[in-house]
Amino acid sequence: MIAELISVGTELLLGNILNSNAKYLSEQCSELGLSVYFQTVVGDNPNRLEEVLKQGIQRSDVIILTGGLGPTQDDITKEIVAKVVNKKLIKDHDTEKKLNLFFEKRKVKMSHNNLKQAYVPEGSMVLDNHNGTAPGLIVKDETGKKSIILLPGPPKELIPLFEEQVKPYIKEKSHYTIVSEVIKIVGLGESLVEEKVLALIEKQTNPTIAPYAKDGEVHLRITSRTKTLKEGKALIEPTKKEIYNLLGQHIYSSDGRTLEEVVVDLLIEKNYSLSVAESCSGGLLSGRLINCSGISSVYKEGIITYSNESKIKLGVKKETIDAYGSVSEETAKEMAQAIATRAQSDVALSITGIAGPNGGTKEKPVGLVYIACHIHGKTIVEKINALGSRDKIRNFSVISAINLLRK
Ligand code: ATP
Ligand code: MG
Repeated sequence: MIAELISVGTELLLGNILNSNAKYLSEQCSELGLSVYFQTVVGDNPNRLEEVLKQGIQRSDVIILTGGLGPTQDDITKEIVAKVVNKKLIKDHDTEKKLNLFFEKRKVKMSHNNLKQAYVPEGSMVLDNHNGTAPGLIVKDETGKKSIILLPGPPKELIPLFEEQVKPYIKEKSHYTIVSEVIKIVGLGESLVEEKVLALIEKQTNPTIAPYAKDGEVHLRITSRTKTLKEGKALIEPTKKEIYNLLGQHIYSSDGRTLEEVVVDLLIEKNYSLSVAESCSGGLLSGRLINCSGISSVYKEGIITYSNESKIKLGVKKETIDAYGSVSEETAKEMAQAIATRAQSDVALSITGIAGPNGGTKEKPVGLVYIACHIHGKTIVEKINALGSRDKIRNFSVISAINLLRK
């Protein structure tokens, strides 16, 4: 089924607000197996809205309009839809009752304008709006084959309405079940991942594979469209296997777990205790780890050794910092060793780097970070050259350090 979106509102055209409804609806429609071919933004202008709606009905099966359902003069969506599908606007008594109740509860008098919201094109399906006064509507075109779905503009009204009432309607109409799984990848950039799976992406139509870059990771969503859930899961399996073959170790989960959850589960399974010493990440690493439930059985101690004095107090040798600098392989190594000794932990992680934006040199540029992992007397260090803002560099350092525990 082909779908299209029409976002109504002059404020969208003027750039006063971001069209977040279109992003949300497109994403949802794709997940439901609809092919979204067009998105249109049109101002609160009757003639132009009529024009795009007529075009929409000609070329799409489902047309979703958002905005312009309110009580004011510039809210014209419903009126234009009624005109185009040649239906009268009639009073919906349930909606009128709800409107009365809404205003009674708030002890304000309902204006004549508000009553406008109780009128719906004849034969429409009325969708209850629990978060506002304008109901959503599903209207059929004159042939009865096309569905025109009208939703209120405010996202806090639109999203629950879509979730609770539009989704089931579309699912029933499309006769398809959508199954999707997300494969999560760390340690490879988005373009590299895409390059490796490009042939697979291009040859697949069902299931489809869509890559997303997400906070220093890459996620691949595999989505199948079949008659039953069982068929969908079976269809995904071979593609998933191929992706595992292509990306191997870089995949850390396909069961919904985050990287830190995978790592914490690993520590729990091996019964390894953990400690952490951080410099430029400033507690971000501990924060992410401690966000995982079950961490209390493994996490012993974390220290932010931001200054050189603090690193030395922890146990890093002054000579090491003098000779190699605080951002160096040697310092990262000694930080991990020192915190492991202090906390008496089986495993220790450390991070030291230059998060910028100031402070880099030619030899040690912004984004240079050393991460170390000390485990049972052995220490491994990795050098990373992270790119981007301070925030991005710190975040990437943390992900890379957590990932060291999988190695
Ligand atoms: P209301 O009853 O609030 O007037 P409405 O259905 O008439 O609802 P609009 O008047 O078009 O909707 O928009 C109301 C508000 O909803 C806008 O000011 C804006 O904050 C939000 N909104 C409208 N359209 C969008 C959109 N496409 N994306 C994100 N927000 C939107
Ligand atoms: Mg309005």
